[in-house]
Amino acid sequence: MPTLTSRIELPSSAPGTRRVLLAHRYGAPGARPKAYFQAALHADEIPGLLVAHHLLQGLEQAQAEGRLIGEVVVVPAANPIGLGQHLNGRLLGRFDFESTGNFNRGFPDLAAVAVERLRGGLSDDPATNVNRIRETLRAVLAGQKALRESAALKLALLSLAIDADYVFDLHCDSESLLHLYAARQHSDEARILGAELGAAAILLEDDPGGNPFDEACAGPWWKLRAALAEEGPVPLACFATTVELRGQADVRDDYAAADAAALLRFLRRRGVVAGEPGPLPEPCCEPTPLEGVDVLTAPAAGVLVYRAGLGERITAGEVVAEVVDPLGEPLGAARPEVRAGTDGLLFARMSERLVRPGQKFCKIAGREPLDYRQAGKLLED
Ligand SMILES: [Zn+2]
Repeated sequence: MPTLTSRIELPSSAPGTRRVLLAHRYGAPGARPKAYFQAALHADEIPGLLVAHHLLQGLEQAQAEGRLIGEVVVVPAANPIGLGQHLNGRLLGRFDFESTGNFNRGFPDLAAVAVERLRGGLSDDPATNVNRIRETLRAVLAGQKALRESAALKLALLSLAIDADYVFDLHCDSESLLHLYAARQHSDEARILGAELGAAAILLEDDPGGNPFDEACAGPWWKLRAALAEEGPVPLACFATTVELRGQADVRDDYAAADAAALLRFLRRRGVVAGEPGPLPEPCCEPTPLEGVDVLTAPAAGVLVYRAGLGERITAGEVVAEVVDPLGEPLGAARPEVRAGTDGLLFARMSERLVRPGQKFCKIAGREPLDYRQAGKLLED
């Protein structure tokens, strides 16, 4: 059994309805290091729900064997609002049906208020500063109010994670290989986690834009470090990552058990759970910049026909897909081609096969930043 299970009630969005967020805690409250996991913030990304299930089994075992050193918080289903959003028989959990936008954007940026509260309050001791900053971030967050259910959900999730040393936001892509997003400042941790998970791509960013959950957790640390450089040392005390657990249909017990085992080995490697993690597996990739991800865009409406598959190494200029106009001439009609803008790995693509002009449908991880990829606008909608 977890040390504690919290039931966090979200504000009722309609008479007669009430949704609840469940958070399981393992280990002694307040013990360090603290790790935080949440699954399916985009509620139609199911692989994370199964990984969280396996992770909880591993934590139960670790708890029973007295191997919890730090504290681990698991929110096994991070978006009860989205989980209830069905339209015409399909679960649609990326955007809020109430029109508040993408569930993984618009988390509050706590740094600006925290900077003012911390001015003049840091010491020469990094560990003391970490504690002060965590207290401050918790206090700033506690002062935030939300009326809407989705805004309350965001505050509740951030409140559970904001003082963690390690934050894992479990997502998936449409059709994809396992990959990670993390801040460039944490490239060493991302490399180790990527090796454990067998990640095919590790995408590092300076400023993704849009305030996703991982940045809301880790970002205050480097923003405070920059703003308070004169006042005292500010360690980057939170490693937060978005783990993309392959594609939406990759919901399999064997994958999920292996992924959960890899996450638990990472916790052992970082002293959250006691035990020998074993040798680090050989990494499958070197980290590459998020600005180097070529996001291919459909030039016209039509049937999307891929010329390249997941995991293929692509050369710049290579045709990755064509768009067929089903109403065009059967013989000799042009098929607009979409060519790669970089050398790299095709690691994610859209599962739907009908595109609209301007629709983004495929991602290639290249090593060099691309001119059209601008800091602050690096994530899709
Ligand atoms: Zn997602």
